Amino acid sequence: MIREIIKDPLLLNKKSTDATYEDRWIAQDLLDTLNAHHEHCVGMAANMIGELKNIIIIADQSGPFVMYNPQIIKTTGFPYTIQEGCLSHQGTKETLRYPQIKVAYLDDAFKKKIKTFYDYTAQIIQHEIDHCNGILI
Ligand SMILES: [Zn+2]
Repeated sequence: MIREIIKDPLLLNKKSTDATYEDRWIAQDLLDTLNAHHEHCVGMAANMIGELKNIIIIADQSGPFVMYNPQIIKTTGFPYTIQEGCLSHQGTKETLRYPQIKVAYLDDAFKKKIKTFYDYTAQIIQHEIDHCNGILI
């Protein structure tokens, strides 16, 4: 189901909690909402549709994939500054991102994964994990 995008900073500043197997329906709503905004959106976090769960969806070149309870366990390289936009607010803002991150998460089948991501994909993941922590760019 396509959901309304939350833009209220008071809601977006709240930290999300870990998702459980029963929360997987939220990922479907995230996917539907992402697809509705695909022309200018490359990722979303569950709190952007009002669900305070650690669920993110990433739409990089390899297509949309879901990560439950993602945690960055290692960053590599020097952080760089870049302009980022966000569906939850107007315009772009400069932010700091690492070029390489190692992330522990549960995949769409709720299997534990540890994977290294680079460059653009790593940037999107960092942005969406910030959302889970109540951080807006
Ligand atoms: Zn955002």
